[in-house]
Amino acid sequence: MSWAPPRLLVLGTGFGGFNLIKHLKDDHEITIVSPRNHFLFTPLLPSTTVGTIEFRSIIEPIRYLRDDLHFYHAHAVHLDVANRKVTCRSATGENEFRVCYDTLIIAVGAMSNTFKVPGVDRNALFLRELNDARELRQRIIQCFERANLRGITLRNASGSYILSFAAGNQPVWNSQRNSMTL
Ligand SMILES: Cc1cc2nc3c(=O)[nH]c(=O)nc-3n(C[C@H](O)[C@H](O)[C@H](O)COP(=O)(O)OP(=O)(O)OC[C@H]3O[C@@H](n4cnc5c(N)ncnc54)[C@H](O)[C@@H]3O)c2cc1C
Repeated sequence: MSWAPPRLLVLGTGFGGFNLIKHLKDDHEITIVSPRNHFLFTPLLPSTTVGTIEFRSIIEPIRYLRDDLHFYHAHAVHLDVANRKVTCRSATGENEFRVCYDTLIIAVGAMSNTFKVPGVDRNALFLRELNDARELRQRIIQCFERANLRGITLRNASGSYILSFAAGNQPVWNSQRNSMTL
C-alpha cells in the first residue's frame, strides 16, 4: 500500500489558523475551512474605517499562502469526533458537505462580547471583519454628507447630535465603584 500524507483539517483563517498553516512543513495534506477566504490583520482594521489605510492592504488571501492546500469557503457546523468528520455549510448557505481528517485544528476565534450593555447588540456597529469596516466607513461618510445638507441643523428631530460618534472597546471594571465603564 502506498503512503498517504496525514490529513490535517484547519478550521479558521484568523491569527491562529493562518500562522499554523504558514509554518507547517509540507508533509500533510492540508484542508482549510473558513467563512473568510483571507487573513485579516485586525490591529489595522480601525484605520480602514476612516480611509487612512485601504482595505486590500490589511488582508492576505489564504490561497496565496501556499499552493498545496485545499480551501473551502464554509462554516464548520458539526463535529463527529468518533468518525473524524466535520460537517460544513457553505458560506452562502446552499450546500452541506463533510470533510474527513486525521488531525483537526480548531481556530475559530471567539464571539464579540457586549458585556450585557443594554442596546449594544441592536444599535452599535461591530468591527470584526472587513465588511464591518466598509459599513462603518459608509456610515461616517453619510453622517458628514447629511450634516452638510441645506436646512440641516446639528441636532436632529429627537434632539441628538448628528455628528456625535461613540466608540467602545472592552469595558473596564472599576472595583472601587463596583461599576463598569466603557
Ligand atoms: C479591531 C480589532 C483590533 C485588534 N487589535 C489587536 C491588537 O492590536 N493586538 C492584539 O494582540 N490583538 C488585537 N485584536 C484581537 C485579535 O484580532 C484576536 O485576538 C485574534 O484575531 C484572535 O485570533 P484567532 O485565530 O483566535 O481568531 P480570529 O482571528 O478571530 O479568527 C477566527 C477565524 O475562524 C473563522 N471562523 C469562525 N467561525 C467558524 C466556523 N464555524 N468554521 C470555520 N471557521 C470559522 C473566522 O472566519 C476567522 O477566519 C484586535 C481585534 C479587533 C477586532
